[in-house]
Amino acid sequence: MAGNALALFLHKALSHPLSTRAFTCSIYEAYPRSEKVYLGGGLGLASNGVAVLASLGLDDQIKKRTGVAKFSNFFTEGGQQLGRWSHEGFGEYMYGTMRSTLYDILSEELERNGMKIEYKKRVVKVEEKNDMVNVEFEDGTSAQGDYLIGCDGITTLISRRMLILGARSAVRAHIFPEAPKPEFIGLNGAGGFVFEKDIPPNFPDRLKGSMNFIFGKNAFFGIAPGSDGVRTHP
Ligand SMILES: Cc1cc2nc3c(=O)[nH]c(=O)nc-3n(C[C@H](O)[C@H](O)[C@H](O)COP(=O)(O)OP(=O)(O)OC[C@H]3O[C@@H](n4cnc5c(N)ncnc54)[C@H](O)[C@@H]3O)c2cc1C
Repeated sequence: MAGNALALFLHKALSHPLSTRAFTCSIYEAYPRSEKVYLGGGLGLASNGVAVLASLGLDDQIKKRTGVAKFSNFFTEGGQQLGRWSHEGFGEYMYGTMRSTLYDILSEELERNGMKIEYKKRVVKVEEKNDMVNVEFEDGTSAQGDYLIGCDGITTLISRRMLILGARSAVRAHIFPEAPKPEFIGLNGAGGFVFEKDIPPNFPDRLKGSMNFIFGKNAFFGIAPGSDGVRTHP
């Protein structure tokens, strides 16, 4: 997510009238496109995330292709309401979506701006060579650039070791080499999607148009509005 959004911001900076430097950027993604578009479950986009996307001109897309949540409700397993959090007053509401819909919105915008995501390019090695950063991919190919910005998520190679690497970089490499690694703590999650037409008529009104969090003894259950672009893996 961050990589695609950042590339759009870099593109925006480049086309700014005060921009004096011409530069290009490339996006490398580990997964093939055929897999990447199905990855992930649901995602609640909070007002600050929507504001960031609005500054890329993508708020209309978000509002059109996701489900709005004006409240978050918290319940006990017996149905007793523990709390109600209004998403009013933050400039934007909360929007529920499939992660893949958000990915689509960002990657379609990249395409509209003439930028391409290079799929099946898993970075396996990064090193500084002379004045450049050299990146090696799993398929044996490599790429060079002045800067490397790691947007490879929580578990992997670049972000954990460096944020920006490059001889001319103001923020030098090796920022958090000792940062704690993620570890599995025994929590599992599963998600599913129900089409609006399949929602039973007795579905309680108080759960509609809201994020709902129901706390049980051994598990937690959530129901949220989602996107219209539900995609299932073939
Ligand atoms: C179950 C779950 C639910 C969540 N729910 C929410 C929510 O409701 N709202 C919210 O705001 N956040 C939520 N989050 C958190 C959110 O998903 C992350 O904060 C966000 O995805 C981080 O974005 P990112 O771009 O840093 O990393 P990612 O979205 O993980 O993107 C990293 C990308 O890098 C690619 N990559 C990884 N390694 C390499 C490599 N070596 N070479 C090339 N490419 C590589 C990956 O394939 C991926 O495309 C949730 C997370 C989880 C796990």
